Amino acid sequence: MAVSVREALGFLNEIAPPEWAFPNDPVGLQIGDPNQSVERVLVALDPDPRTVASAQYRQCQLLVTHHPLIYRPLSKVRFDDPVGQAVQGLCAARIALIAVHTNWDVAPGGVNDTLAEVVGLTEVRPFGEGPAQKRYKIAVFTPTAHADAVIDAMANAGAGVIGLYRRCAFYTAGTGTYEPMEGANPYLGQVGAREHAEELRIEMLTPAERLNTVVNAMLRAHPYEEVAYDVYPLHTQAEHALGRVGALPKPMLARELRDYLAEKLGNPYVRVYGKPSQIVRTLAVVGGSGGDYLPDAQRAHADALLTGEVRHHHTWEAWARDIVLLEGGHAETEQPGVVRLAERLRESLEPRGVEVIVEGSNE
Ligand SMILES: [Zn+2]
Repeated sequence: MAVSVREALGFLNEIAPPEWAFPNDPVGLQIGDPNQSVERVLVALDPDPRTVASAQYRQCQLLVTHHPLIYRPLSKVRFDDPVGQAVQGLCAARIALIAVHTNWDVAPGGVNDTLAEVVGLTEVRPFGEGPAQKRYKIAVFTPTAHADAVIDAMANAGAGVIGLYRRCAFYTAGTGTYEPMEGANPYLGQVGAREHAEELRIEMLTPAERLNTVVNAMLRAHPYEEVAYDVYPLHTQAEHALGRVGALPKPMLARELRDYLAEKLGNPYVRVYGKPSQIVRTLAVVGGSGGDYLPDAQRAHADALLTGEVRHHHTWEAWARDIVLLEGGHAETEQPGVVRLAERLRESLEPRGVEVIVEGSNE
């Protein structure tokens, strides 16, 4: 028994929908054939050449990693370069690669929920920014008789969806005025004469990824030679927050918390920044590189933020903000979430005869 790469991707998309990923995070199928059959899957933090070799050795047909392999368009695939080597290794052994990254960080039960559980937090709640869906408002001025055709064209191109409603638009009536110049071919009016036209101002929402398609569809449906329209970026509230914040089992001094986390994460090198004698009751966690979440953690009333790795300026920012910052290791703060991902995958794929292995375990 086996599943296809497409079916495995479909399951991963259910527990960590790709639309929850941060903008420009290349999650999903990065390499491989969606129709390929899969009998054994390797789950790992990184798609590095050593992990690819391990997937080959264990005769896996699918590698699922937290970090994507290809972040930017590749200008070359050289086999003496680590990324090229991993691409070559996957292609040569016909191993598909799926990345489940920031969509798994924010997902319920994902990287940050698992990290909160590992460090023993209770009353856990989300905090901080998430991948807000970027949207635009388009306002276009059309003759009244053409309003429906323009709204239809924009709706069919992907604009005007609000929740479970489609073709949502708002219009107000007004008067457009213009004076066609020499060489113009006006739909209404004459060259050199001032024209007053009854028009509607139509407003519709569009997701950022449909903006160009919607504008082009609107221009094609519009009768005017020169179309007046405006595009406004919108502020949208993040639906899925990235971080988690909760209560520690007991209040601890910052330096005691360091030792506690070192034991929980299995990393003796956890570092603490800020005031060592500060008492911490509420801890915020962000796996990986989460130093930029200090202000959000403070707004969420956390006494300390645990993340994987920080930059130098975060260390003095912690002092200045009077919040404790703990650096637990990038891999150490994310690996528990990777193991959890493998467990979820195993629950759904094992009954179909697929074996799921976690890199770094002896299973
Ligand atoms: Zn990471």
